[in-house]
Amino acid sequence: MQNPTSGFPFGKNRGILSPRKRNRPRTIKDNQPQPNRNGRHMIDLESFIRDVPDFPKEGILFKDISPLLASPEAFMEACDRLAQTFADKGVTKVIGIESRGFIFGAPVAQRLGAGFVPIRKPGKLPAETVSQSYQLEYGTDTIEIHADAIEPNEKVLLIDDLLATGGTMAAAAELVAKLGGQIVGIGFVIELCFLPGRAKLPGQDVHALIQIR
Ligand code: AMP
Repeated sequence: MQNPTSGFPFGKNRGILSPRKRNRPRTIKDNQPQPNRNGRHMIDLESFIRDVPDFPKEGILFKDISPLLASPEAFMEACDRLAQTFADKGVTKVIGIESRGFIFGAPVAQRLGAGFVPIRKPGKLPAETVSQSYQLEYGTDTIEIHADAIEPNEKVLLIDDLLATGGTMAAAAELVAKLGGQIVGIGFVIELCFLPGRAKLPGQDVHALIQIR
């Protein structure tokens, strides 16, 4: 992973809550659901994201989705909202990027009645693969997809947990292009808007449930 958040600390709770309180997993009781315009209840998903400073290395403020996953209501709502966003796009394959993209990609695929395809780190997929390398702050990284995972012109939705610099998702989009798939949407749970990730995905319908500025 690159260093997307150099200059810790970031985050909306900076300087307001003590680290102990800031890192406490939230529960549904902390987040009284607010009815939206349709009368449906909406959960404040951002309050289920835990900031972990200096993980995996110094200077990175890690956005931990564990509290969101641990809440049946918040996890359900995140998957529902991602699926609803792309419901009218005719998606036949949802791609999740290892590993947190799997957690959201698979339930979204089921909600859309689509198949699920994993993009994985090198050497994990058993059959013939296609690879794409991309630049990190120091060095490069590579991701792979099965060569037969997508039919030419198949409508594909890409899902990952977080958009930072956009290098991972841009490489994933390259893999889909190599297989001749048509990307109809790209969904994230979290977008770090202070990084230029979106600019790496020009012309794409990019949507994030939580935008951190
Ligand atoms: P990037 O390629 O820079 O957009 O990084 C995106 C990938 O790295 C995603 O798969 C994220 O899971 C992970 N990632 C990057 N930055 C963070 C962060 N601050 N907190 C949590 N995960 C991150």
